[in-house]
Amino acid sequence: MDAMNIRPEVRDVPAYRFEARPALVKLDQNESPHDLPASLRAAALERVAESEWHRYPALHADALAARLAARHDWPADGVVVAGGSNVLIQALVVLSGLGRRAVVLSPSFPLYAQQARLLGSDLHEVPLGPDHAFPTEAVIGAVATGSGVAFLPAPLAPTGNAVDPGDLRRVAEAAAPGWTIVIDEAYAEFAGSDHTPLARAFARVVLLRTLSKAFGLAGVRLGYAVAHPSLALELRKVVLPFSVSALQLAVADAVLGAPEAVDERVRATVAERERLVAELRGRGVRLVPSVTNFLLLSVADAAATHRGLLERGVLVRRQDHLPGLVGALRVTVGSRDENDAFLRAWDALTRVNGVPHA
Ligand code: PMP
Repeated sequence: MDAMNIRPEVRDVPAYRFEARPALVKLDQNESPHDLPASLRAAALERVAESEWHRYPALHADALAARLAARHDWPADGVVVAGGSNVLIQALVVLSGLGRRAVVLSPSFPLYAQQARLLGSDLHEVPLGPDHAFPTEAVIGAVATGSGVAFLPAPLAPTGNAVDPGDLRRVAEAAAPGWTIVIDEAYAEFAGSDHTPLARAFARVVLLRTLSKAFGLAGVRLGYAVAHPSLALELRKVVLPFSVSALQLAVADAVLGAPEAVDERVRATVAERERLVAELRGRGVRLVPSVTNFLLLSVADAAATHRGLLERGVLVRRQDHLPGLVGALRVTVGSRDENDAFLRAWDALTRVNGVPHA
């Protein structure tokens, strides 16, 4: 084979780690367990049929951005829409981290570090505190000088615990002027949290939201940033033009027209989360207190428990490869039936192998 010109930063980065497996009960990707109601899907399809497929869509999904902005009582020109918040993570590295620093928590959502490495940022990983707490002092230390981009998931992921808004405010206050502080609110709907007050107070704070979780649109691919309009103007330059398709826009339009369906699903998931926590605690399982739609459990042998559950039709996600997460498995809160199936599989496994938790 002839030589290829691949930048070493790209060659040295492992591919995003995800292995799709068929399973009866799929609790591995923090998706919504329910697809949209049939009436909403029909309304979305009608809009798709009406849209002009031969024309380019809006340059930057402007009407959708305005609609999302209204949900946050935010200026329309301060919202940037893209095909998933993944796309915006990359765009934010390009905006503020290229040739500068990228601060990420460890462990956290692996895509932050992966994109920072690919784009050649100077990656600085800050370990979580005891009990996976947000490491306020260490983050402040990392952003107090120099310049770059910091990715801070709130709630934390993949641990699922809450972040105190006061701690984020201290980070925003302490950050040197060269920093962009990104608060990734992917799971905020399940926590009832909202960091717009901080983004209102600090132009260097950008919020990331996704329609993949609470909105149940992971397959459609939509996410957005909430930022000061002057930062949003620059971020829009980085996101490729026309990258949100007419099909995505039509579906989003229908779904945003029925906010009560989203609220209802969030309420159901939160109630199921609390039931699942009580059931697992009753069995002596160690887990991180979660404000999201997933639970991080600690077991003695993550590989064996993962395999045992899968043999019983239940797919969860191993997280034990991440730093500080020995024996960790992540379980998405599913529907009532799915959660019952998970508990049955857990109990069956426990009967066969003894107690699978540490
Ligand atoms: N941030 C976090 C913390 C996530 O867990 C995920 C998805 N797993 C994302 C961002 C990416 O979401 P999207 O589907 O919008 O690209």
